Amino acid sequence: MKFTLSPRVVLGVFMALLLVAPLTLSPFYVTLLNYIGLYAMVALGLVLLTGVGGLTSFGQAAFVGIGAYTTAVLSTATELPGWLAWLGWSPWLSLIAGLVITAAVAIVLGSLTLKLSGHYLPLGTIAWGISLYFLFGTMAMLGGHTGLTGIPPISVFGYKLSQGHEIYYLIWAFLLIGVYTVSNLLDSREGRAIRALKGGMVMAEAMGVNTARSRMVIFVIAALLACASGWLYAHMQRFVNPTPFGLHIGIEYLFMAVVGGAGHVWGALVGAGVITVLKQWLQDILPKLFGHSGNFEVIFFGALMVLILHKARGGLWPILVSLVGRVVPVQATQRRIDAAAEPLPRRELPQPGEVLLEARDVTRRFGGLVANNNMSLSVRAGEILALIGPNGAGKSTMFNQVSGVDTPTSGEVLFRGESVLGLGARAIAAMGMSRTFQHVKLLPTMSVLENVAIGAHLRGSKGVVSSAWRFDRAEEARLLAEAARQIERVGLAEHMFDEAGALALGQQRILEIARALCSDPCLLLLDEPAAGLRLKEKEALASLLKKLRGEGMGILLVEHDMDFVMGLVDRVVVMEFGEKIAEGLPEEVQQDPAVLEAYLGGVE
Ligand code: ADP
Ligand code: MG
Repeated sequence: MKFTLSPRVVLGVFMALLLVAPLTLSPFYVTLLNYIGLYAMVALGLVLLTGVGGLTSFGQAAFVGIGAYTTAVLSTATELPGWLAWLGWSPWLSLIAGLVITAAVAIVLGSLTLKLSGHYLPLGTIAWGISLYFLFGTMAMLGGHTGLTGIPPISVFGYKLSQGHEIYYLIWAFLLIGVYTVSNLLDSREGRAIRALKGGMVMAEAMGVNTARSRMVIFVIAALLACASGWLYAHMQRFVNPTPFGLHIGIEYLFMAVVGGAGHVWGALVGAGVITVLKQWLQDILPKLFGHSGNFEVIFFGALMVLILHKARGGLWPILVSLVGRVVPVQATQRRIDAAAEPLPRRELPQPGEVLLEARDVTRRFGGLVANNNMSLSVRAGEILALIGPNGAGKSTMFNQVSGVDTPTSGEVLFRGESVLGLGARAIAAMGMSRTFQHVKLLPTMSVLENVAIGAHLRGSKGVVSSAWRFDRAEEARLLAEAARQIERVGLAEHMFDEAGALALGQQRILEIARALCSDPCLLLLDEPAAGLRLKEKEALASLLKKLRGEGMGILLVEHDMDFVMGLVDRVVVMEFGEKIAEGLPEEVQQDPAVLEAYLGGVE
């Protein structure tokens, strides 16, 4: 058997090294390691927030400051009001106080800034980063710019951690717990929702994910990690002043996450380690080299950042992994699917022939343009209805009206007898209507299995805390087993663990159908599923849709391609210029003079 490296063994060796490091290294390097641990904790939050979630924050240093100042004030003040005094008894109580304050501040700042898109969000974080920094320096209670001194050491089971090599163990325990928690979180139902934030928000909402909530979750977790780092920092330094909580340090944290590899939890540690050690060395070496003192390392880091952004967007971690992998093969950690997991509960299925979707006199105007005019259609269980028409006829607009993406100017849309108007994509998904997209929307670097599992979001309920601490494993096994079943159902089983982005377009469209099926819908809405497919792929798609129809599914198919529709569907509605020009069996519609005119006589 060939020797392969197991990630578990690597982790074990790493932990053993961490354990003996303070016993063998000089105090100088122990202090350096302490700083690396503290920085890595903040950078870990940024991996989650920025690297995975796509939300850029320059303001994390301010949260570090809240953690540090909360404990500094509570553990040094001599005259706290009686109802607060108990919080000063132990640094552990002031940690809890700091976390509570940080969460509250993060929720307020998050609800003000997270809605901002594009460059407004980073600008927002800069704004509150600066505000909080000056608040620390201005408040008399916080000691102004001189800060607060006399902060006591932390005690663990009565043992005071007053030396650098003592608090070292606490710092690294915190960091490792942080890494464990965040990587568990990312590998869960909540984690898939979080990973969908970057580039998949519309899709995630259509699968029932509350993306605003997911954004808030990662924002608060990142803030809490920063706060814990600040708490440890205050008790390590035994004094605090505003300097380490300013905007430029906030930028440095972001720098660490990006250099290390913002897409991976261990990237935080690599980034914090490399930057901290390099900075130390450069501060020693460069002034000697240039013959006079100066902050040469800052200039160097600026150049390094530009280089990394050009040559290694993913940061150092992926490079490190591939280098190691080239020397010694690393065992792949293949996810196991528990086929015996109890199937998820299903919704009550409609009777064959029951009317599922009914649109009545739907009109949608865009200013003077009437994109849909008095459109009516209905879809029954166990039937495929095609909505066809030349380009610009108003099909996608109609699709948006029934799927909750848009609201009609007038008219009604009923799903199983209930109005869906104004409900929004999430609520509609919950009712049992599930969709695919005209332009495929999937998360290309996630596996087919994980992409499909996003569809099952609404069928699970385990939240952030359960996910982070692995109390969600039974439910997770059921969700993944369901995703695997749907992947088999559509015939993609052999690609289960492949990256979704590596599939051919036809397979990606099939993946989207599996994802939609994962939500246990009774009605599927497909927007031009055959567009861009080769003949073989079209045939595979058609036979899948027939199979689903046979199982009682209702399907609304928006299609441009008349030939694809004809052998497949039960009824056809034809649109032109926003209006219905024909409705009936495929053979009838094909002979209809108005339809022939629209398809052959038009500009097509
Ligand atoms: P189809 O999907 O049949 O090709 P669409 O529904 O995309 O047609 O478009 C129908 C008409 O409505 C087109 O003239 C298009 O320009 C117009 N339209 C669609 N969406 C909007 C919008 N959001 N604002 C203004 N006009 C729109
Ligand atoms: Mg369209």
